Formats: sequence, structure tokens, C-alpha cells
Amino acid sequence: MPELAEVETVRASLARDLIGKKIKSAAVTNGRAVRRHKTAKDFRAMVEGHSIKSVQRLGKNLVLGLDNSTHLVIHLGMSGQLLRAKGPKDPKPKHTHVVFTFVQGGELRYVDPRTFGELYVSKTPAESDPPVEISKFARLSIGGDGLALRRAVPELAHLGLDPFEDQIGWDRFAAILRSRSTPLKAVLTDQDILAGIGNIYADEILFSAGLRFDRPAESLSTIEIRRLHRAITEVLTEAIKHGGSTLDDEQFVDPDAKPGNFQQFHQVYNREGQACYQCRQAIRRESVRGRSTYYCEKCQA
Ligand SMILES: [Zn+2]
Repeated sequence: MPELAEVETVRASLARDLIGKKIKSAAVTNGRAVRRHKTAKDFRAMVEGHSIKSVQRLGKNLVLGLDNSTHLVIHLGMSGQLLRAKGPKDPKPKHTHVVFTFVQGGELRYVDPRTFGELYVSKTPAESDPPVEISKFARLSIGGDGLALRRAVPELAHLGLDPFEDQIGWDRFAAILRSRSTPLKAVLTDQDILAGIGNIYADEILFSAGLRFDRPAESLSTIEIRRLHRAITEVLTEAIKHGGSTLDDEQFVDPDAKPGNFQQFHQVYNREGQACYQCRQAIRRESVRGRSTYYCEKCQA
């Protein structure tokens, strides 16, 4: 499943050539991809003829600002891809559900074999509308674009802190952890607390911080909290630098169909039985609620 690093890779790529482009048409061949709208026609009517002003990201969501005070939100779900094409003659991959054609030429295609992902258009609330209820964790933010983005796109207001779009110091982060008795990994992957981290990066972050996945969040010392706070930004920054992770069983590629290569730098994820790079002990895998967790028993306390 694409997480923050993969979605950020897609965002950065799209931002390079999408800004200023005008959507000529949006052909929907699978209505499930635009299921929040009553009909595919409604979705088309909201995007056709509009130009893209900005390409942002919040958590695992791509947010394209349009020239009519609306935002086109794209969530890649489990297997979604956004792929550039020169035109209709380029062979269409199987499971292409939406094709945007631009007035300036070129296409952007939404491909999603499992169709858990979705696209929808969100209207920015008017001044007279009731204020948007923003997540209590996001409200701890002291800078970044996250709060403005949540106000503009109410569907994203529930999202917790984005490690890059929201800024908080380690002290506020500490207060969040100290109020939770749940295991660390559950806190890291709860989108309503921290937005963007999933199974892969939670495991990598916890290894980097030297912390076990099942430690109650409230049990961390100040030094451990500072280590975790730093590991979140460090691991994700490195992952973005390498274009995200492309695993054997999943299909993450950027809009030019290029896979990421951060999987080559994974310390624990998908490395069951292999030697830990730090201590040579075998990496362990444990199944928690149907999802695999990879960790080193010796390096993570
Ligand atoms: Zn180790």
C-alpha cells in the first residue's frame, strides 16, 4: 500500500508538469473510483474545463487545487497508480478507471487493480459555513500547510499530524504519546493521530529509534521519545529521496512507471530470517491483527 513516501514521490513528480494544465476531459470507466459522487457525470462536470493550480499532499492523500475553489483529492488505496501518457494511442494498462486529458496535450491515468483507492472533488467551505472541525492532534501543529489544507478540504480535517505538512516539536509529540496506552506501532499507523505512516515505515521508524512495536506508547522515556520523533522525519526523508518502496507483491511506481528503490535500504521490513545489519541476529516477523511486523529483538527494546 502506498504510504507517505510513495504518495510524496507521486506528488513531486506531478507538481513538475501538472501545474497550469487545464483538464479537457475526465473519462471514467469504473464508477467505483469516484464513488463519493452520485454519478460519474457529476464528477466529470466538477473537473472538466478547470486548471490545476497546486499539487499538495496530506497523509496518504494527493490534493490538487483547481481554479474554482475546489480540490481534487486522490487516495491511491492499496494498489492505485497515476500514470502519464502522451495520448490515447499509448496502450492503456488493465484496470485504468479514470483518464484525464489535458488541453495542452497529454493524459494522466488512474489505474487501480483492487479499486480501494478513490478520486473525489471537495468544495472549499464558504465563510458562512460552520467552521471545519479539525483533529485535536493536528491542532497541536505550530506551522506548515497542514491546517490550511484541512480547512480547505473538510474531508481531510480528521487526519492527524502529517510529519512534513504539520510541524510539532518533540515536547508536544511527547504529550501525545504519554496520553496513549496502546502499542507504539498502533499509534504510529493510526491516521487520526499521525497521517501517512503505514506498515512498512512504522517498522523502519521503530527500528531506527531502537524501539519495539509493542511497547505501550506511554512507557517511553524522554530520550526514547526524542529518538522516535527524529526517526520519523529521518526515515521518511530518506525514503522520499529514494522514490519510495516497491515490493515484489505490490506495484508501486511513479507517474513515469518507475519503481522506487528504498526497499533496498529497508533494515527490517520484509527481511524475516535475514541478519540484522546492526547486530547480525535474525530479523523476526510477528503477525499482529493479520499484518506482519518485522523487528530485531536485540536492537529494539
Ligand atoms: Zn539487530
